[in-house]
Amino acid sequence: MKQIAILGSTGSIGVSTLEIVASHPDTFRVVALSAGKNLELCARQVRQFRPKLVAVADPHDLPRLRELLDGQDVEITGGLEGLCAVATADGVQMVVAAIVGAAGLVPTAAAIRAGKDVALANKETLVTAGHLFMELVATHQVKLHPVDSEHSAVFQSITGHRNQDITKIILTASGGPFRETPLERLKTVTVQDALNHPNWSMGRKITIDSATMMNKGLEVIEARWLFDAPADKISVNIHPQSIIHSMVEYVDGCVIAQLGMPDMKAPIAYALSYPARVSSGIKPLDLTELSGLTFFKPDLERFPCLGLAYRALGEGESMPAVMNAANEIAVEAFLEGRISFLQIARVIEQTMDRHQAHRLSSIDEVLAADQWGREAARAICTTMTR
Ligand code: NDP
Repeated sequence: MKQIAILGSTGSIGVSTLEIVASHPDTFRVVALSAGKNLELCARQVRQFRPKLVAVADPHDLPRLRELLDGQDVEITGGLEGLCAVATADGVQMVVAAIVGAAGLVPTAAAIRAGKDVALANKETLVTAGHLFMELVATHQVKLHPVDSEHSAVFQSITGHRNQDITKIILTASGGPFRETPLERLKTVTVQDALNHPNWSMGRKITIDSATMMNKGLEVIEARWLFDAPADKISVNIHPQSIIHSMVEYVDGCVIAQLGMPDMKAPIAYALSYPARVSSGIKPLDLTELSGLTFFKPDLERFPCLGLAYRALGEGESMPAVMNAANEIAVEAFLEGRISFLQIARVIEQTMDRHQAHRLSSIDEVLAADQWGREAARAICTTMTR
């Protein structure tokens, strides 16, 4: 029985993880959970899965969570300390890192320091602090299993091969809801238009990141660290059907791809059970039912955020952390109706233009760069008129 902790159990990845756990009660047991603001769902999860420990991100929410869990045999804690307690709980073998954004950085680092294997959904941790995380993973000899479907696909396509034989990692991208929207019309798209992803059902932040293709940019940086690959070996193909989840090209010209229906339960199940495979409840792929698989190069005029991510990766040091922070602030401002869709990329670019990249040698320094990026991006947002 594998004992699991979930950071971000109330989110899209957290809920899918719990569905996998519920369908394999003899294989997985949840012993610790953490939530952000959705206390009602968190309380229902505690009643159903009976973890030993639950944490809520904001300590001000503790009284309400205690009230909702009155009579339940569970330790209730809160704040960053509480999230770290979930990440390091006794007996936990694997931590599912599914908090959204840089808020996942410290608890995920705590999990690794405590010797826990990590199933990583929270790509922002590798974007902001990739070199430090990979060092931590090596020092503490833990396993890092990718949850992102693209990285899970790459992981499955490189297993058994030598790193030096890889010529290219090809990440696929659906292109999101605006793949074919006339550029002029992008000026006036609404939050609802941007949240209307054609293939994947996900949390709000990553859904907007998919519409701008910043999500793919974050994934390029994530792949750089997970697979120790330089930027010029990582490319992106738009593949609107989201059936091929990513590919790896080798020196002999062969390409290995991983295919499946677009449902996050497959990569989550694999990350939890690796090297074994367990059923994920997803309909198997029948290629004869598909009308055709198509691929295109991404248009950087339409998707400037993808170019900004390659720029941040090229400049390195603190730039990816600052870019990520600016993106989080810009996406929040867009979701709240304060800036337009096209202004998301402008906020990020202007924040990056004002930043002088510098070396980051600790998680505290990453958090300081993140804070700098947030403040700069907030100031830029206030200057924007819609
Ligand atoms: P959601 O927004 O659906 O869920 C985020 C989770 O994090 C929720 O449990 C939320 O709590 C919690 N949370 C939010 N803010 C904080 C905070 N400041 N401190 C602690 N907890 C917090 O996101 P997703 O599940 O979509 O994504 C999670 C991560 O996985 C992201 O990094 C995303 O990029 C990545 N990912 C997601 C995929 C998907 O299909 N959804 C695919 C691949 C990667 P609450 O809801 O209670 O407020």
